[in-house]
Amino acid sequence: MNSQSILKVSEVFDSIQGEGSYAGTPCIFLRLATCNLKCAWCDTKYTWDWENYDIDKEIKEFSVYEIAKKITLSNKTHVVITGGEPLLQQANLVSLLRLIKSKRGKESNPNVYFIEIETNGTVIPTKEIMDLVDQWNISPKTSNSHNKQKGINLEQLYEKSLSFYKYLQNASFKFVIDKSEDLVEIDQILKKYNLPKEQVILMPQGATKESILEKSRWITNYAKKNNFAFSTRLHVLLWDNQRGK
Ligand code: SF4
Repeated sequence: MNSQSILKVSEVFDSIQGEGSYAGTPCIFLRLATCNLKCAWCDTKYTWDWENYDIDKEIKEFSVYEIAKKITLSNKTHVVITGGEPLLQQANLVSLLRLIKSKRGKESNPNVYFIEIETNGTVIPTKEIMDLVDQWNISPKTSNSHNKQKGINLEQLYEKSLSFYKYLQNASFKFVIDKSEDLVEIDQILKKYNLPKEQVILMPQGATKESILEKSRWITNYAKKNNFAFSTRLHVLLWDNQRGK
């Protein structure tokens, strides 16, 4: 294990998981910097958009030993690793996860550490990291993300990766929905890659509670009718997407 491995970090903070299968769970977030996509509605552009954010202010480098210390000194044993795209740093992330998994929580919470990874699903994980992750939250992007207009070929990226991810049992496929037309595209993606419907979660796009609530009404109607799971975005409802919450 190389505890001198470095990770580029955007922020580390305590909160509750706001989305997906573990929504509501108290956790510590590790947000890693940089991303290989450029989603138009991205709410964490400070992790990768260096035309609008100052890279020197936004990214800090820490050894995996320092990050493990921050995590194990908190009273949380549920760890959500997000970004940006965290798998761009997966080699060094393996060192961090090995360190964390070798420990138990503090006296008040002596559990083993549970690791969730939030990924855009374009990068195939290595066997090493697969063995350390408890839950994969894969969020394939659709045309509403406007990556195509930025010269990014999503179809090419997902061709191999989704064919890999579809076999994972401990994964959910969380689709971000902006307009009703997105539901047609999602249906096509599910069929194309043969993704397991029971592992799919539909979630509204939005950075304010008003937009989340408005979209939630028609998305939940569709979800009920078609037997899909639905997830809200608790952190937006509670804090309007403030950083570090
Ligand atoms: S994949 Fe995630 S972090 Fe990257 S640009 Fe899209 S929304 Fe932002």
